[in-house]
Amino acid sequence: MKIVQMLCPSSKYNIKCPYSMEAEGICIHNTANDAPAVNEIKYMISNNKETSFHFAVDDIQAVQGLPLDRNGWHASDGGNGRGNRKTIAIEICYSKSGGDRWLKALDNAAELTAELLIDHGWDISKVSKHQDYGNHKHCPHRILDEYGWDNFLNLIKSKMGKSTETETKTDEAVSSGKTVVTLAREVIAGRWGNGAQRKANLTAAGYDYAEIQGAVNDICAGKSVADKVATCTKSTTSTPTPAPTPAQPATPAKKSNDEIAKEVMAGKWGNGADRKARLEAAGYDYAAVQNIVNGLAGKSTQTTTPAKKSNEAIAREVIAGKWGNGNQRKQRLTAAGYNYAAIQRLVNRMI
Ligand SMILES: [Zn+2]
Repeated sequence: MKIVQMLCPSSKYNIKCPYSMEAEGICIHNTANDAPAVNEIKYMISNNKETSFHFAVDDIQAVQGLPLDRNGWHASDGGNGRGNRKTIAIEICYSKSGGDRWLKALDNAAELTAELLIDHGWDISKVSKHQDYGNHKHCPHRILDEYGWDNFLNLIKSKMGKSTETETKTDEAVSSGKTVVTLAREVIAGRWGNGAQRKANLTAAGYDYAEIQGAVNDICAGKSVADKVATCTKSTTSTPTPAPTPAQPATPAKKSNDEIAKEVMAGKWGNGADRKARLEAAGYDYAAVQNIVNGLAGKSTQTTTPAKKSNEAIAREVIAGKWGNGNQRKQRLTAAGYNYAAIQRLVNRMI
C-alpha cells in the first residue's frame, strides 16, 4: 500500500499539533464520512479547527497529515489526555456508507497499523480505539457495529504475521536441500564470500540471496553486540571462500582451533557428545577447541549489551544528526544492531 505525505505546514502547528510527542500507541477512528483520504487530509489541514489526525486511509492509499512526533486532537480526552497526547491517529475512510471500498480501506488501515507496530517494536496491545478515551465516543463506529473490534485486531495481527513469516520460513528447507538457517550460518562463517560476490555465489547455487541475507541479519541481530562482533563481523573480514558443499569432517585443509571454535559457536559441529565425536573424527583436539569456545562465550556474556533504545528514540537521534547521513548512517545503525529500514521509515514520517 502506498503512503503519501501531505504534511500540515508548521505555521499551523499551534492549532493542529502544538505538542511534540513520543508516541506510545495507535488510536483507530472511522471518518463517518464518504470522502477519500486525500480530501480528509486536505480539509483537516486547511480549516482552522483543532481537530487533527496523523493518517487517513482509503481503498487506495494512506495519506499522512501530521508528523509522528507531534500530537493530534482526535481522541476527545482533553489537552493532557493519553489519546490526544500519546497516540498516532488513523482515520479509516468511507465508513459512512461502507461497502467494498470501505472494506479495502479497512484492510489498508490494518496494513498501515501493522507496519507502524513493527517499526516501533510494538505489539498488538498498543492498538486502541477512540472509544477507549475521554467521552467514549462510538468510534470507530463501523468497525464496532459491523466488522468487530477483535476481528480488526486479528486482521492487523495477520498483517504483522506476514512480515514475521519470512522469519519462521527460515526453518523450512529450500529447494536445494539445505535450510535457510544452515545457509545463513555458512554465510556467517565466511563460506560464501561478501557483498556482491556473496550474492553471486548464492544465486549461482540456486539460493534466494535476499532470504538468506535476511536470516543472517536476524541471527546477527539476535545476538549480543559482543557476540556479533565475534561472529558477524568475521564474515566481512574473512576471505571469500565459496564452498557450496557443507563442511564435512576430514576436509583437506585443516583449520586453526580458533576457526573451528567459531564454527562450533555458529552451530556447525553440533552439541555435546556429538560435537566431541565429530571434532575428534575430523582430527581436532576437542578439549582445546572447547576451551576457546568457552572463552568466546564467556566474553560475550560478560560484555553486557548496552540497553537497546526504542526505534523511535533512535529515529529522533537520527533527526538530531547523531547517526550521520546516507550510507554512513546505515552502517552505523546496522553495526549497533538496529533495523535501518524501520528507523528510516520512522524518520521519514517524523519530518
Ligand atoms: Zn474517532
